[in-house]
Amino acid sequence: MSSNISGTQKAELSRLRELSARIGGDPMLTQASTGNTSIKLGGTLWIKASGKWLVNARGEDTLIPLDLDDVRECMEHSADPAEIYAGASIETAMHAVLPHPVVLHVHSVNTIAWAVRQDATHQLTRKLDGLRWRWVPYVSSGLPLAQAIERVLSKSAEADVLVLGNHGLVIGGEDCAKVEDVLSQVEERLAVLPRPAGEIDSPALKQIAQGSPWDLPSDDVVHALATDTVSQAILSRGILYPCQSIFSDSNEPEIFRAIPCLDSKDLYENRYSTRPFLLINGKGVMVRRTMTSSQLAMLSGLARVVQRIDSSAPIHYLSDQEVAYSARTISSRYQQRDPQSQYSVAP
Ligand SMILES: [Zn+2]
Repeated sequence: MSSNISGTQKAELSRLRELSARIGGDPMLTQASTGNTSIKLGGTLWIKASGKWLVNARGEDTLIPLDLDDVRECMEHSADPAEIYAGASIETAMHAVLPHPVVLHVHSVNTIAWAVRQDATHQLTRKLDGLRWRWVPYVSSGLPLAQAIERVLSKSAEADVLVLGNHGLVIGGEDCAKVEDVLSQVEERLAVLPRPAGEIDSPALKQIAQGSPWDLPSDDVVHALATDTVSQAILSRGILYPCQSIFSDSNEPEIFRAIPCLDSKDLYENRYSTRPFLLINGKGVMVRRTMTSSQLAMLSGLARVVQRIDSSAPIHYLSDQEVAYSARTISSRYQQRDPQSQYSVAP
């Protein structure tokens, strides 16, 4: 299919790869393999392959071609194209449903900080005034999300910005330049300054790291998960968005609750031998040396989101059922590609 594309189409694809790499390189928009982009060219839907990192879009075969009519026909039979076409992004159905030639979906930190609030539509109505935007309440990724978007668009087709409850942001447009322009407008309007976090206790953390399976994270932002009391209060009450379920399939997330500082570093390994990271109350975060780059990126993203949620915000947490479902979906998709690894993210 790719050999039949014209010079103009090649140029469009190249622009999408460039845009994908730019948004993939911004931790405020994309973490690990989250986020996906697509372009519809002459009946072909070029969509990000599942598990690929957008940041590598310039050098890898990040986009795969699918016949758009076939994808849409599959959805008419209530089948999820991500299940039918091996390697296609979990959000293939969403990209096919949207009428725009270029579509991007990101786990924008600023957007999620608003989209986890019970009063999100009220807040966003003020902030996004003048943009053609719609709210899509939380629903699982894949076909259910695409169908929810179809319902929203059937009431008002004129929309190029979708804010996904407890999930992220979708932008559609005529071409890459327009989509990127709208993305920067939304980011500017939804920007939140992070709450300052407490100082980390470097000497204590370095002592725990010596000769142990634990290390300090390379991204200092992560420490706020343990040094900011507001973040701790928010995290201890539930799961905010599906990617968090790579660490916990329970909506009573023990793993996100800070633990006390123990006297002996051996106690950390004995008591917390199954944990990928430790939030040590008021001291900082330790990460297991075997943590994958996906996990580290997800943890950084979580810290960035939680630092931007206001202390008085009424929060809409995912239900038990939603957390269990997203944990199953994410792990089963990942295991199809990397049975060696316990965790990862492949939206
Ligand atoms: Zn997503």
